[in-house]
Amino acid sequence: MLDILKQSNNPKICKLLVESVIEKAKEFQLKYGRKPAFMEVCGSHTMALARTGVKQSLREYVDLISGPGCPVCVTDQRSIDAMIALAEGEHRIICTFGDMMRVPGSNKTLMDSKIAGKDIRVLYSPVDAVKVAEENPDKEVIFLGIGFETTIPILALMVGEAQKRAVKNFSIWMATKLVEPVLRYLLESGDVHLDGFLLPGHVSIVLGEKSYHYLVDEYQISGVITGFETAELLSGIYKLIDLGLKGRVSIENNHTSVVSKTGNLVIQEWMKKYLVECDEAWRGIGVIPNSGLDLKPEYDQYNAKKRFTVEVGEPRKTKCRCGEVIRGLISPAECPLFAKACKPMNPIGPCMVSAEGSCAAYYQYLRESF
Ligand code: SF4
Repeated sequence: MLDILKQSNNPKICKLLVESVIEKAKEFQLKYGRKPAFMEVCGSHTMALARTGVKQSLREYVDLISGPGCPVCVTDQRSIDAMIALAEGEHRIICTFGDMMRVPGSNKTLMDSKIAGKDIRVLYSPVDAVKVAEENPDKEVIFLGIGFETTIPILALMVGEAQKRAVKNFSIWMATKLVEPVLRYLLESGDVHLDGFLLPGHVSIVLGEKSYHYLVDEYQISGVITGFETAELLSGIYKLIDLGLKGRVSIENNHTSVVSKTGNLVIQEWMKKYLVECDEAWRGIGVIPNSGLDLKPEYDQYNAKKRFTVEVGEPRKTKCRCGEVIRGLISPAECPLFAKACKPMNPIGPCMVSAEGSCAAYYQYLRESF
């Protein structure tokens, strides 16, 4: 029945699903003497679970832990400072996603630089950055390339477009992240106990179901790929509890309408053509080997890190605990600054800025519960 219902947001169906999940979670608690604990890897899952009241409804029965799936939040402070410093150069246009504008750097934000007169543009379609470069041949146009496997193919597409249209004043500041290395990091660190993962539907469209088999084969932990519909998320949580009760581990696909076994092979080939693995620094974690993708050396002319030098000092230390939030070690409400010094209008860290940030989700939908 759950398979039939999983695409629906019908309140009656969702209520029934919540009750089913609670029953299963009680069984789990009876059997193992504790609540089941699952990590929603994706920031959009965190937002959806909070916005729809699922987190609130299940709070006493299931630990739903936010993970490292918000691209703005996981970008380390030195990278943020470098991007802000990049915008200081003359004859440059910086193009970025909207969430980046208010992320606090050590001394200022991109928004501060824009107010001070720097040409910083928020784009809804990143590919438009190539058009901006064509329209401004006397300026260097630099796109701030953050994101996971959902966004990375678009960055490759942009390079292809710039090549095709012989645009020479366009480049990308690559700071991308991959899902697998950070999940391996979390599991190997052993800092947080998990009974399974809610795996991101949109990343899985690119990577496919097979790409998560290492979770079962090497770490003996389950995962359910889900989209963002309430019923789909609830049925994903139900499946994870059920697997735990049966003592089984498995990767289940709750998003079969768009996620195949192998993922999108055309996009995977496209990424291989332009990109190569590189070490990336993650907020609160440090450098994880081969955890990002950079442009291949033959595309150096589109690689802003090869074309521009920026000097940044040691990042300013704050009491922000985004690093621990991202790793699932604390919930946002455990940060002493949450909803006090740190609010969406006055964010101290990126998790309070981003539309996918855990602190923003907790502030908007859960702060009354604490
Ligand atoms: Fe950082 Fe603010 Fe979240 Fe605390 S509440 S972890 S200061 S973003």
